[in-house]
Amino acid sequence: MAHITILGAGITGLATASLISRSHKVTIVARNLPGDEPSIEWASPWAGALTVLGGIDSTRDKKMQLRSFSELWNMNARHPDSGIKRITLEDIFDDDRSEDDIWWKNFMPEILILGQFRFISSDRLPSGATMGVTYKTVVLNPSVFLPWLRKQLENSGVEFKRMDVESLSELKPLGHDILINATGVGSASLRDVRDQDMQMIRGQTIVVKHSYDKVMQRDDGKNYTYAIPRLDGTVILGGVRQHGRTLSIECTNAFLVCSLTIWTITKFSGTMLVCALQETPEFDLKESI
Ligand SMILES: Cc1cc2nc3c(=O)[nH]c(=O)nc-3n(C[C@H](O)[C@H](O)[C@H](O)COP(=O)(O)OP(=O)(O)OC[C@H]3O[C@@H](n4cnc5c(N)ncnc54)[C@H](O)[C@@H]3O)c2cc1C
Repeated sequence: MAHITILGAGITGLATASLISRSHKVTIVARNLPGDEPSIEWASPWAGALTVLGGIDSTRDKKMQLRSFSELWNMNARHPDSGIKRITLEDIFDDDRSEDDIWWKNFMPEILILGQFRFISSDRLPSGATMGVTYKTVVLNPSVFLPWLRKQLENSGVEFKRMDVESLSELKPLGHDILINATGVGSASLRDVRDQDMQMIRGQTIVVKHSYDKVMQRDDGKNYTYAIPRLDGTVILGGVRQHGRTLSIECTNAFLVCSLTIWTITKFSGTMLVCALQETPEFDLKESI
């Protein structure tokens, strides 16, 4: 049994711990821990959090994505207290992809049968869309799921320690055999990592009270818009994807107007969102306040 330290307590660190703690002694060390208030220092508390298949190319990543999906799908049945719920997704694309690009339609038939996968007929697609797929997937509320997973891990012997480090080498005194770096964008600033490929993408979301119960996402590969119900009487509206932007702003008038627009359309059209936000994805948040 090896002693393994994981630096990072976001979903990457916790999911890694849940697999390897079955056969190793694991300590999780992090500046931000499950149960903490959301802050710009870490991503996990902000997520929708929805599983949307696709968006990757390598066989290894595809296998990993399907395995994670399968794990979450089954956890919904085994652990209703985890906050994971099954939900119908309508995923609409505006780019030139073909049915062959939906690589996962032929994988893991048991999930696809359970998930009731199908292509959306063209007469049901909104104007400008090239393709749409619908299937059942999973959604979770990170403010429920992260503390729940932490508790599960603690019950199985995983230790949590709060530490804010400037380099991985500061962790040597913990005496581990293996150190796993799960710091997310933190890897760009750790002195002995300085991962230049790590880039922050700024998103922005708004939570509204509503009983809407189907996920809608529309994506042209560059910009996207989504409504993610958490099935607890709230819905997350989002649609900003800004590469390299790090400014933290809790609310902007421009975003609020866009969100209210798409929300009003959802409320009154009933079925499919019109992607108002996609028309204005790159407004400058700094200028808009
Ligand atoms: C608005 C929004 C919506 C999203 N929606 C979805 C979604 O619906 N579905 C989906 O799959 N993904 C979604 N994502 C993306 C998802 O949230 C991230 O990919 C994921 O949370 C990254 O997790 P992580 O564990 O790698 O990093 P993080 O959650 O950022 O965790 C990093 C951990 O490392 C620690 N750390 C970092 N640096 C240091 C340091 N120097 N010293 C000590 N500790 C350190 C932090 O304290 C934290 O514990 C969304 C993201 C955002 C912002």
